[in-house]
Amino acid sequence: MSVYVCGITPYDSAHLGHAFTYVHFDVLVRYLRHLGAEVVHAQNITDVDDDILRVSRERGVDFQELARREVASYERAMRALRVAPPNHSPRATEFVPHMVEEVEALLDAGHAYERTGTVYFSVATDPGYGRLSGVGRDEMLKLAAERGGHPEDPHKGDALDFVLWQAWQPGEPWWESPWGRGRPGWHIECSTMSRRLLGQPVDVHGGGSDLIFPHHESELAQAEGVPGPRPFVRHWVHTGTVYMAGEKMSKSLGNLAFVDDVIQRHHPLRLREFILRRHYRQDWGFDEGELAEPFSQPGRGPDDRDDFYRALDEDLDTPEALRVLDRAALAGDSKGKALWEEGRALLGLDP
Ligand SMILES: [Zn+2]
Repeated sequence: MSVYVCGITPYDSAHLGHAFTYVHFDVLVRYLRHLGAEVVHAQNITDVDDDILRVSRERGVDFQELARREVASYERAMRALRVAPPNHSPRATEFVPHMVEEVEALLDAGHAYERTGTVYFSVATDPGYGRLSGVGRDEMLKLAAERGGHPEDPHKGDALDFVLWQAWQPGEPWWESPWGRGRPGWHIECSTMSRRLLGQPVDVHGGGSDLIFPHHESELAQAEGVPGPRPFVRHWVHTGTVYMAGEKMSKSLGNLAFVDDVIQRHHPLRLREFILRRHYRQDWGFDEGELAEPFSQPGRGPDDRDDFYRALDEDLDTPEALRVLDRAALAGDSKGKALWEEGRALLGLDP
């Protein structure tokens, strides 16, 4: 089985939104392996894109040095949360020649056009564009504007067209291409790394739900726009959004809770359990005060092993699986204790 999870852009420390996504994908991979699947898990590192280049300029740090530092910090935070390292952690900069080939294939297939060294994907050539997110054109334009899609770019044939290859601009790193010096667009980075490392179709492709549009929508359009097996992805999996003080946790709003800070004050396994007590698809508000409170007051009741595994089978319902373990612990007998230990170990919560 193949699992591709969209990874970080290493320009800032990991926050609770990252922890929520990667802890849940860690449990998904653990559970698939427990069921006997041979899982190949890839999670990329977006080490060249608009955001990392902007921050490297602002701080006067080379983008590769910034990436190296932030990747190390991210990996430390994930180790503390017991998130197993993926089998592959491809860096976008290692796959640029492959990305160039994918862009050429999209041009050959008539899905792309070039303007002054920048290559765009033409959404008009893909009548199904929007099929993943299911949102209308107005909403797509709004999201594209919010999420770095630059609908106002005057070179575009359609405001929703997106960049496959970005022409070089002074001060930016560059690679050679048939369209001159430049760098890959964000979406082509992921679809290329997924296709090259895991083949097509990939069984699971996922990330935070803020990636559905335009990132995953555009990855899908690219990957299915070139000849090859269908579909690109068998199962899309998206984790909920983490809010803080009523707003989406985001860099631009400045309402971030960093993993490094939270685990100074609370045991990392307590944070892991706190995360798993929310369903992966649930949007929720982080309130650090709740980490110090008891997690549950389970009612007594009979529970057995089947209830625990049934909860995980039902769309990876970790909150219900943990409630089963709570009740098993309350039962106080040796059977309950054995289930509690087995379940906690599977979820990565054993001491
Ligand atoms: Zn991605």
